[in-house]
Amino acid sequence: MANPVKTTCPYCGVGCGVLATRTKEGKIQIAGDPEHPANFGKLCSKGGALAETLDLEDRLLLPEVSCQKVGWSAALQAAADGLSAVREEHGPDAIGFYVSGQLLTEDYYVANKLMKGFIGSGNIDTNSRLCMSSSVAGHKRAFGSDTVPGNYEDWDQADLVVLVGSNAAWCHPILFQRLRHARETRGAKLVVIDPRRTASCDSADLHLALKPGTDVRLFNGLLAHLAAQDCQDSNFVARHTHGMADALASARADAPDIAHLAQACGLSLKDITAFFDLFATTEKTLTVYSQGVNQSSQGTDKVNAILNCHLYTGRIGRPGMGPFSITGQPNAMGGREVGGLANTLAAHMEFDDVSRDRLSRFWDTKTVASAPGLKAIDMFRAVHEGKIRAIWIMGTNPAASLPDATFVRDALEKCDLVIVSDVMENTDTLKYAHIAFPARAWGEKDGTVTNSERRISRQRAFLPAPGDARPDWWIISQVARRMGFAEAFPYETPADIFREHAALSALENDGRRDFDLSGLKDMDTDSYDALAPVQWPVSPAHPTGRKRLFDDGYFFTDDQRARLIAVSCRPPVHTPDKAYPLILNSGRLRDQWHTMTRTGKASRLNAHQDEPALALHPLDAELYDLGANGFAKVSSRWGTLLVRVQITPDQTPGQVFLPIHWTDSHAARAVTGCLVNPATDPLSGQPELKHTPVKVEKW
Ligand code: SF4
Repeated sequence: MANPVKTTCPYCGVGCGVLATRTKEGKIQIAGDPEHPANFGKLCSKGGALAETLDLEDRLLLPEVSCQKVGWSAALQAAADGLSAVREEHGPDAIGFYVSGQLLTEDYYVANKLMKGFIGSGNIDTNSRLCMSSSVAGHKRAFGSDTVPGNYEDWDQADLVVLVGSNAAWCHPILFQRLRHARETRGAKLVVIDPRRTASCDSADLHLALKPGTDVRLFNGLLAHLAAQDCQDSNFVARHTHGMADALASARADAPDIAHLAQACGLSLKDITAFFDLFATTEKTLTVYSQGVNQSSQGTDKVNAILNCHLYTGRIGRPGMGPFSITGQPNAMGGREVGGLANTLAAHMEFDDVSRDRLSRFWDTKTVASAPGLKAIDMFRAVHEGKIRAIWIMGTNPAASLPDATFVRDALEKCDLVIVSDVMENTDTLKYAHIAFPARAWGEKDGTVTNSERRISRQRAFLPAPGDARPDWWIISQVARRMGFAEAFPYETPADIFREHAALSALENDGRRDFDLSGLKDMDTDSYDALAPVQWPVSPAHPTGRKRLFDDGYFFTDDQRARLIAVSCRPPVHTPDKAYPLILNSGRLRDQWHTMTRTGKASRLNAHQDEPALALHPLDAELYDLGANGFAKVSSRWGTLLVRVQITPDQTPGQVFLPIHWTDSHAARAVTGCLVNPATDPLSGQPELKHTPVKVEKW
């Protein structure tokens, strides 16, 4: 057997280390990396089945223009000419890039540089908008920066973990195993706050099945309770925060007494009291939150309602405590670092004059975007309206995964120029492509990803590149060169790009910007190849990375104090009514990932659930005359689909659940995105994927 190649799992934001070994027979064996601090050798069902997903069936292996296979030169020139013509005729804002948390940081960096630095528009956004942009907005409001304060050791050390809007047992399984271990060996307590009873509840001491959309009220009630119980860390609040009085006044107005609060949140007085008392009396409390919080028209306020409780008690930046956003995708965090969101610049800089000037000098360009671009939902609206005339989609499948997916398909149908970079040839989005670029897949490409605890890890190639597939950074750089920007895109290796990314983070960084890789900017290529997992910032003050931020009480606001934010509960944008009386929630299954292009290849993963199914409570099944394993027609104001029925007491009456994985390219066509409403959070732009009014009928 050859020496194992150390790489990182391509699925969730836990970012587990993986060992890939080629056997004498030429097969690839996959195992967990015992030295990686995210997983210490463990892998979940998806990671453990990676070796079964490496075949080339359905791979896109040659560039195409107008559905004709062509050489690279012709395809790259067609893309460059098309983008340049749109820019010339309609201006830079007539171009959009929609990218992905599946891209490596180096790919992301180059895409962002081309759009924001040289095309000259802010119009690059990412499917991470659907994943954690509410956390980003909440972090920035409270901390002055998009910083996750803690690390995974906090999961081992907490005495109480509050899991909000997350089925970590299925969606972040290796982290959840750490929680279970802490519970079994140390007696740590687990509270799950989720409208559904999920697998995570099996290990919980308390499950609060709160009414959808009432999270802000619940955490406002908690803040008021903490004040009533005299749990304020007065020293921390006085020295390191602002806004406490206003936040507390809002909390008290939202939740004047616990009995009414319980009723408003659909909870029993006993359960809500038990939760509040546990939180109030447990110093080492970690509040972990994910898509149930973020994917909401009030996602940012929900995040800040949680952060308020930690700032009020001073439980942040210390072992075993703090708020903890867990990201869905393997590189959602890396994308944030390089400006993959339309409203930020590279290296966590904002669209202010100082940052724009810094970028202009660093990139030697006069065309740095002057304003934030369009966020995902608005970007596809602009395509539909003809304001964006050319869109380049990389490593994601918006025709299936965005809300109101039928509208997105219409938009792509109308668009003058659709360029798609992907590894698969049969995605729903690729059908609309005028130009298709075959990208290299996991195992074939090199670069870095950043996981939910700010840890940068290497993804390393261990397979030969198939066909004419190329790394995304190479494809983007080649198009950039043909658009006339050759000097700015000279990269030969991902190490060249990483060094530039690190140098930019260090430029004029006096410690007032959280993202700092100055300690890595002079790495030679051998050191980059050998880079061990490390948590940013990596700077002279923290040469081996930094486990926790805010341990010194200093934040990244102008006055270095955190902000408690006054928030009030408001209902979701679209509420159930007579025509659409049920609330549709959407999410992941344990053994599938996104639109199943990789996990769908592994038969053992398909065995867990081999087709989409609408989960609903027995009372609703009776009300709508639906039998187990029968079929239902599910309709919303945005679309209709037919799907099998799964009756389960885990659902609350009045609420139904659909998985997000199946698309038109699967035998069981069921594009959940076609049902989902496109309402967004006004601050983060994150869509309300967890709350769409629907009706169900027997079919
Ligand atoms: Fe991969 Fe996430 Fe499973 Fe780890 S927990 S093996 S990163 S899918």
